[in-house]
Amino acid sequence: MKPILQAINVSKHYGKFTAVNDITLDILPGTIHSVIGPNGAGKTTLFHTLTGTVPISAGSILLNGEEVAHLPAYKRVSKGLARSFQVTNLFPNLSVTENLRLAAQGRYFAQALNPWRRVESLNLAGDIASQLIEQLQLQHFSQRAAGELSHGQQRRLEVGMAMAGQPKVIFLDEPTSGMGVDDIAEMKQFIHGLRVQYTVLLIEHNMDIVMDISDQITVMQQGQILAAGKPEQIRNNELVRRAYLGSM
Ligand code: ATP
Repeated sequence: MKPILQAINVSKHYGKFTAVNDITLDILPGTIHSVIGPNGAGKTTLFHTLTGTVPISAGSILLNGEEVAHLPAYKRVSKGLARSFQVTNLFPNLSVTENLRLAAQGRYFAQALNPWRRVESLNLAGDIASQLIEQLQLQHFSQRAAGELSHGQQRRLEVGMAMAGQPKVIFLDEPTSGMGVDDIAEMKQFIHGLRVQYTVLLIEHNMDIVMDISDQITVMQQGQILAAGKPEQIRNNELVRRAYLGSM
């Protein structure tokens, strides 16, 4: 199977500090690929470089074989990369439906150059929002302001906003952070279901989730890859256990 996304020798320097150091990764389509590692390992910076939030200092990023490293974030979105952030990123005063519509429009409206296509894109955004509300199981909250949802629902809505642009690859940065046990279990099922439709890159500190739903795991430490493999391989990797997983 050909990778959908590849990082080849990607580095990111901030002045003299190297946050991401010569990372090479293949992400296979339809998989959940988790990136784990201690605080400050460079996971979020790696996501930033892949999605275009920050420019890389060196290396190459291929999406379906096409070089995208030089493209700004919004162009990578139009090619199928979508991102949810570590901190919730919703419009709290807008309804659930409006949040999803805006996210969908963000991808399609900007590309529709003539007025007729723009009307079409607005209709499409409405359809996408309706479908997503069902998928996110937020039917009873569609007109509720996003800021009034529970924390777990907000995080789910945020993933929904990443899905709204109908991407190929979704980046999720700590989607369960700050959640209670029930919300975590729901989110885990939800993310697991995503790989039917998408390729998922996941940063997650909750090892139960990572070990249960990942197809592939990359472990980072000090900007570099410490280990990569399937959950069982990572669980049994002595280096990883010592550096990160403790007494798992
Ligand atoms: P966490 O699990 O705590 O979110 P992480 O693995 O995602 O950590 P990053 O946020 O990628 O780690 O940070 C990696 C390193 O890069 C850290 O030492 C951080 O201080 C540094 N760093 C991140 N962004 C910048 C920046 N804009 N300027 C300078 N240093 C930065």
